[in-house]
Amino acid sequence: MTESAGEPVATSQCGAARVANRRFTDLTAEDEELVSWMSDGYPPVLDPLLSRFMPPATASMNVDKGWWPLLRRLDRDIAAAAPNYRITRLGEDLGVLDFEIVPDYLTEEIADIIAGAQSESTRTCVVCADRAWLYRQGDWLVTLCPDHARARGARSARTDADIAEAVPRPTDRELAFALSAGVPASAFTAQAQRSNCAYVRASDDADEAEMSSWLTSTAVARLLNTSTVTVNRLRQRGALLGGRRRNGRYAYPSWQFDCRNRPIPGLQTVLAVLAEDEDVVGVSALMTGGWEQLDDLSAADWLAQGRPIQAVVEALQDSERL
Ligand SMILES: [Zn+2]
Repeated sequence: MTESAGEPVATSQCGAARVANRRFTDLTAEDEELVSWMSDGYPPVLDPLLSRFMPPATASMNVDKGWWPLLRRLDRDIAAAAPNYRITRLGEDLGVLDFEIVPDYLTEEIADIIAGAQSESTRTCVVCADRAWLYRQGDWLVTLCPDHARARGARSARTDADIAEAVPRPTDRELAFALSAGVPASAFTAQAQRSNCAYVRASDDADEAEMSSWLTSTAVARLLNTSTVTVNRLRQRGALLGGRRRNGRYAYPSWQFDCRNRPIPGLQTVLAVLAEDEDVVGVSALMTGGWEQLDDLSAADWLAQGRPIQAVVEALQDSERL
């Protein structure tokens, strides 16, 4: 039990409805309660977070429920280091969490905690908290899972141009101020540069964290009983999926290999379908998420079991990501 004793528990049945069909990641019961909150106002477990707004009258989440679980953890982590810290800004900007605290409390440790939550936000659907990607919805960039992207008619934002062209989303407070002062919406584009940097940094951090758990070239060479030179060639030919880490070395997700340490059947064919996607971590997530068309198996498991390759090709081609 990691739950702190002071938190209300009587409301656990209140306003919660099950979120069905998560494709990539399951939620803990306490996170699911936040994401499926249907009542007015905010769940009582968010009271500690809401009590930290400065000035207090500005207390508002300004982000959709999918990010409430990560905000709750963020608050707990910061409070452990600085119990009296205060929040001056909480919102969403170009698909990344925008979170600022009173500078007096901003130690290096706390800056790292916030950067960690921002990384997580670039991979978390703002609606349902499932694994997410960056999408463009009109002029906005928004972080959504493929299902919610489809529901909103958003299209995949995969180029730098998509990010550069997007208008940063003003917070409610900024918008109210701007409208009352007669400021044109274009004034917010000045903020774009800063936000772009924040997004790129946060999503790079998330990629690096993910790839740190992947296999090194040496480990793959050992698995395949070959040399690292050959492993490199296989990657360049599209026969293996690998991503470049900050240290310049390549890393390879382990789902590519079956129990006999061979590449899973059809791997190269399937990687060819995704070849234009430069987001290696995103491709890996697509391969390990469940697909209705594949009996709720992941594409990687489906292929590892020797099932028809064409079914995976079709499922990926149907995906909103492509
Ligand atoms: Zn979603």
